[in-house]
Amino acid sequence: MDANAVDTSMTTNMTGGYDIEKIRSDFPILSRKIHGKPLVYLDSAASAQKPKVVIDALVSAYCDTYSNVHRGLHFLSEASTDAYEAVRGKVAHFIGAKSGDEIVLTAGATMALNMIAQCWALPRLKAGDEILISIAEHHANIVPWQMVAEKTGAVLRAFPVDEDGSFNMTAFTDMITARTKIVSVPHVSNVLGTVFPVAEMAKIAHDANALMVVDGCQGVVHMPVDVQALDADFYVFSAHKLYGPNGVGILWGKAEILAELPPFLGGGDMIDRVTIEKSTYALPPHRFEAGTPAIAETIALGAAVDYVQSIGMEAIRSHEQDILSYAHQRLSAVDGLRLIGTAVGKSGVVSFTMDCAHPHDISTIIDNDGVAIRAGHHCAQPLMDFYDLPSTARASVGIYTTREEFDALAISLEKVNRIFA
Ligand code: PMP
Repeated sequence: MDANAVDTSMTTNMTGGYDIEKIRSDFPILSRKIHGKPLVYLDSAASAQKPKVVIDALVSAYCDTYSNVHRGLHFLSEASTDAYEAVRGKVAHFIGAKSGDEIVLTAGATMALNMIAQCWALPRLKAGDEILISIAEHHANIVPWQMVAEKTGAVLRAFPVDEDGSFNMTAFTDMITARTKIVSVPHVSNVLGTVFPVAEMAKIAHDANALMVVDGCQGVVHMPVDVQALDADFYVFSAHKLYGPNGVGILWGKAEILAELPPFLGGGDMIDRVTIEKSTYALPPHRFEAGTPAIAETIALGAAVDYVQSIGMEAIRSHEQDILSYAHQRLSAVDGLRLIGTAVGKSGVVSFTMDCAHPHDISTIIDNDGVAIRAGHHCAQPLMDFYDLPSTARASVGIYTTREEFDALAISLEKVNRIFA
């Protein structure tokens, strides 16, 4: 096929009942122009756009039901508390948790990972114990472990991926030792798109008596997740990548593990009884939720969960897989473009470099055409070192992404080639 030809074998308007036009019309920002051109938003892996139902839920939480949660006996406080607490059940159902009591509402995935490091790892790890991560981690799944390792004398180790970004089971199992106490990996790499076989890895981690943590930021947004089937111990993600608001995230933990953890932060809402001498703590999940939470944002996360479920995670996965394979085919045809991360079954993102230009220049130039991608190290500097690259450009796929948007990206990248020729 001619590199610049558009493959029309599958129309983007209606893919197997997936009504892309309707979905796009749910997102007000997608109809705006950037530099006079239609917005081509290929940066959902950094943060996804919000459908009107989420924005409406946020506005309604402030206009109709706003009050602080948990502490009041008046109408609005009860309405606010009910709406806020209902989100736990929604999220539990969405990810297959046993109950809403396993859903800890955090400020985001970063806070959730720090919480696991501080509450589970810090009191348990000893000098010489090992924490095993992959080379493809986001800094949020590196730095919290380093902080604990520094305090305990534990050692942070990272297993490599294959050159094409594929997960390598031997590389992983070779680095599990009798000293491995924690395995913490991404469900999906935010740079390579590699899908880690987390269920299989959890079994191996558990056979070695290690805790299994999954950074689900780029997983839960692209595919159905059933935490009980994965059988990890913790699964974390941020609402803002799931078409929800900023400032909210989820820490799912097995009830029996949460029950053993000390609090993370101290303050209001997380206590049972406080005297000047001593405090006793609330049961999970409230034990981990000190202070006034992001009330409206949490309620709007509930709307985001309802929204993606109304489309269906299986339908989302198959739409996005179609777009991703088209994106690979289309971008591979651009002169001097190298794809970084081509593992079979990958999901969500297309990272690349170009011979002619630095990723920052690529991103700046194509922005003039209304095309938004990310350029940089993607908070994954060890992975950049692994590939001996300072940075990559990254286009990412969301529920509203079309093949035409990757045509627009490819055409814009050919322009970059011409500018630097
Ligand atoms: N892990 C992964 C794989 C991510 O992509 C991100 C966000 N880029 C994070 C962790 C951190 O998420 P947040 O900044 O929302 O806490």
